[in-house]
Amino acid sequence: MRPEILNSMFADITTLNGVGPKIAALISRAAGPRIVDLVLTPPAGLIDRSFRPAIAEAPSGRIVTLKVQIDKHDPAPKGRRLPYKIICSDETGFVTLVFFHARADYLKKQAPEGSQRLVSGKIEDFNGQRQMAHPDYIADPENPGDMPVFEPVYPLTAGLSSNVLRKAVAQSLDRAPVLAEWQDESWLSARKWRGWKTSVELLHAPGQQEDLSPLAPARQRLAYDELLANQLALLLIRKARKKSRGRAIKGDGELLARMKKALPFALTHAQKQALNDIFADLRSNERMVRLLQGDVGSGKTIVAFFAMLSAVQSGAQAALMAPTEILARQHMETLGPFAQALGVQLEILTGRDKSGVRAKKLEQLRSGQIKILIGTHALFQDDVLFQDLALVVIDEQHRFGVRQRIALTQKGPKPDLLVMTATPIPRTLSLTAYGDMDHSRIMEKPPGRKPVDTRTLPITRLNDVIEGLRRAADKGEQAYWVCPLVEESSLLDLTAAEERFETLKTAIGAEKVGLVHGRMSGPEKDSVMERFYRGDLAVLIATTVIEVGVNAPNATIMIIEHAERFGLAQLHQLRGRVGRGDKSSSCILLYKPPLGETAKARLKVLRDTEDGFVIAEEDLRLRGAGDVLGAAQSGFPQFRLADISVHAELLATARDDAKLILERDAGLETERGAALRCLLYLFSRDDAVKLLSAG
Ligand code: ADP
Ligand code: MG
Repeated sequence: MRPEILNSMFADITTLNGVGPKIAALISRAAGPRIVDLVLTPPAGLIDRSFRPAIAEAPSGRIVTLKVQIDKHDPAPKGRRLPYKIICSDETGFVTLVFFHARADYLKKQAPEGSQRLVSGKIEDFNGQRQMAHPDYIADPENPGDMPVFEPVYPLTAGLSSNVLRKAVAQSLDRAPVLAEWQDESWLSARKWRGWKTSVELLHAPGQQEDLSPLAPARQRLAYDELLANQLALLLIRKARKKSRGRAIKGDGELLARMKKALPFALTHAQKQALNDIFADLRSNERMVRLLQGDVGSGKTIVAFFAMLSAVQSGAQAALMAPTEILARQHMETLGPFAQALGVQLEILTGRDKSGVRAKKLEQLRSGQIKILIGTHALFQDDVLFQDLALVVIDEQHRFGVRQRIALTQKGPKPDLLVMTATPIPRTLSLTAYGDMDHSRIMEKPPGRKPVDTRTLPITRLNDVIEGLRRAADKGEQAYWVCPLVEESSLLDLTAAEERFETLKTAIGAEKVGLVHGRMSGPEKDSVMERFYRGDLAVLIATTVIEVGVNAPNATIMIIEHAERFGLAQLHQLRGRVGRGDKSSSCILLYKPPLGETAKARLKVLRDTEDGFVIAEEDLRLRGAGDVLGAAQSGFPQFRLADISVHAELLATARDDAKLILERDAGLETERGAALRCLLYLFSRDDAVKLLSAG
C-alpha cells in the first residue's frame, strides 16, 4: 500500500482550484493526470520580468515591466468590435494597454484612473503607438502581490494557457508533503543538495537560466532520486526473479558436439564468449535472465540455437519468440535444416495456422514431442502449453518493455530467459532499461564481411540514384529501397512509398520491383519478400517492415529516403541488411535539404563507422536520451528529470547506491528503507514494491 503521506501527491488534478475536466484533460497531456505529475514536471523556460525600462526605452517585442500612471479608460463603442483600451504614461511617453473581450468593471478595479500601476507583458509598436496587448500582470507597485519577477514556463499543449498551468503547479507544490529523507545524508551534504521538498520548490522557482539546466543542484538531486528509484526497482525485479529458482541445465553433450560439426563455419570469439556466459547461467540453479546484444549480422541466432539445444539435451523444451511473423519464418528456415539433421523436432506456431494444424502442434507440444517452438507472441497464448519449457529466447528485445518481461517470467514454470537485441544500446541506457538483466555483447562480426560504402545525397539527386540503381539491377544486383513510415500519418507515407514504387517500376521494369508495407496482409507481404529472396525481384521497396532482422544475403544496395527522419540506430540496422555476403555493398542515405547541424553530424557518424555501439553512444551524445529512444520504443523508461546524456555519472552512482542499499536492507525495512519505499511510490514503481512485500 502506498504510504498515506503520499495521498495528496496522487490525487487527481481536478481536485485543484480552477481545474475542471476540460483543463484537466489539457494538463494531463502536458504533464499527467495527478498532482505528482505537476510537481515532477520541470519548467522548460523562464520569463524574466526584472527588466524595467521607461516606456520610451522599452524595446519592441520584449517582455518588460513598466511603471505607469493610468490616465484614461477608453471602452470600445457599443456594438463595434473594437478592443477596450487603457491609456497610460510615464515621464518618457505613452503606452496603450489593449484588451479584447474585456470586462470593464474588472479592469476599472484593477487599474483605476489616476493610479500608479506596474504592468508586465510584451510591448509592441502598433501604428506608431506603443502598445501592450493583454498584459500578463497589472499590479499595485506598493503591493505587487503575486506578480513574480521570474516566472517558470512549462511545456504546453494547445489550448492551455501558461498561467493556468503555473497556478496549478503552485497549488500542487503547496500540497507536496515534507518527506523523510531517503538519500544518504553524507552524500547529500557532499553534493550540497537540499531536501526533497525544498528541491521541488527550487525546481519550480528558477531565478536565472542556469537554474533550468539539468546540472542545477535542485534538478540534479531530483534526477538522482529518479535514477535511484529506477535502479532500485530494477534490482528488486532482478532479485525476485533470481530467487524463483530455475533448474540446472547441463550445457555440453553430444547434441551440441554434433551441431558444432554440422556448422559450416567456426564460431567467432565473441559468439563463444556469449555462449560461455549462457551455459554458465544455464548450469547454475539461479534463473537466467540475460540480454544478448549484438549488431545485425553478428550471429546471435546461432548462439540462441546452441542454448536451445542445450535445453533439449537436458530433456526439456525451448521456445524462440520473434516480433514478427516474417522473422519467425526466417528463423524457421535457418534453423529447421540443422534441427532436422540433428533429429530434433522444431516447429513454428503462428496466428496463421489453421485450427486443425494448430491443434496437432499444441498436442505435440504438450506431449513433449516438439522440442523447439518458434513463433510470435502468439506463443504465449493461454492454450499453448509445454510439457517442460526450460528456456525462452526473445528476439529483438527492444520491442518488449520491462512490464512485459515481468509478465512473461511470471508465467508457467519459470523458464530461463535469453533476450536478444540488434539495437546497440549505450551502456548508460542499458543500465536504466535492462538493469534487471545480465549482459553479453557480441562486438565482433563474422569474418569476411566487407565494409558498406555509405554515402549521403540530397534528394535532388534522385534521378542519378535511380539511374545508378537501374545499371546495378541490370548486372543482377539487388537493392532495398526504404521509405520511412511515420506513425501519425501512415497513410501519407504509404502514398509516398506507392509513388516511389511507380517511379521505379517505370525506370527499372515493372516485373523487377516489389513493394511491401504495413497495411498488406501477412501472406501478401510474405509472397513479395519470397520473390525478393529468390532473386526474382531486383528492388524491394519497403516502409520500415524490413527493419528487424530479415535476411536476404544477396542484397547489396540499401537506399533510404528521408534518412534524416530516422534514428541513427534504425539507420544502422537498416544498413545492416546489406553487406552480409562477400560482395561489396553500398548504402545511400537520401535526405531532404537543408539539413540542420545536428542532422548533418548524425548522418556523418553513420558514414564514419559501422560499429553499432559507437553509433549508439554518438546518437545519445548528439540528441539526448529522449530522442534516441523515441516515444515509439517501448521498454525504455521515460525520465522526467534525469537526462542520461547529462547524468550518466549520477546513474552509475545510483546503481552502486541501489546495490548497497539492498545488500544492507534487502526488505527495505529500516527507517531509511521506509523512506526509500516512499521514493519508489513517488516514481510509480509500485510493481517493484510489490515484489518486496511478496518476498
Ligand atoms: P543476427 O541475428 O545477429 O543479426 P544472424 O544470426 O542472423 O545475425 O547471422 C547472420 C548471418 O551470419 C547468418 O547467415 C549466419 O549463418 C552467419 N553467421 C553467424 N555466425 C557466423 C560465423 N561465426 N561465421 C560466419 N558466418 C556466421
Ligand atoms: Mg537476428
